[in-house]
Amino acid sequence: MFQLPPGRGVCAVFFHIRDLGLRPAPFDVELPPGAIDFLDPKIRQAGPLKAKGRAELVSASLDEIRVKGHVTVAMEADCDRCLEPAACPVDGDFELNYRPVTEGYGDDTVIDPSEAEMGFYEDGGVELKDVLREYVLLSLPMQRLCRPECKGMCPVCGKNRNLGQCQCRTETADDRWSALKSIRT
Ligand SMILES: [Zn+2]
Ligand SMILES: [Zn+2]
Repeated sequence: MFQLPPGRGVCAVFFHIRDLGLRPAPFDVELPPGAIDFLDPKIRQAGPLKAKGRAELVSASLDEIRVKGHVTVAMEADCDRCLEPAACPVDGDFELNYRPVTEGYGDDTVIDPSEAEMGFYEDGGVELKDVLREYVLLSLPMQRLCRPECKGMCPVCGKNRNLGQCQCRTETADDRWSALKSIRT
């Protein structure tokens, strides 16, 4: 695992509902790769993540927290076709809302449509890293390719076709083999 350099371990920014009740909390952070666990080995942070914005209390009665701002980060994912790194830059505005987890959601609980996009928090507040992880993962394209024209891997031998042809396909290759065989025999 990535080891945070000394002094950089204090990347944790926690927005407590009690503090937001008094005033909004601005943030301006730069997180090195490894500071956020993206929970998927196929997705990696390739450079510093810069995020700036603020957290505020939207509704005191619902304890609803809104975190909004701008994030820039070079992400990297395994190419869907060849598994080589595919660059996925993220550079965008985000706005995510969170409400406290409510105890005892039963079958008869009606969740109104506005809550469909709602995040939920525990322990009295929202961790900035969790917000940034959520936004970055949501921002990544569904199809992740190292390049639009990626040729992918040979399904037979697994060779990366971007690096050249393998022997297991195409008629021309077969012809050459048969020609070689006839010479040998
Ligand atoms: Zn590829
Ligand atoms: Zn092959």
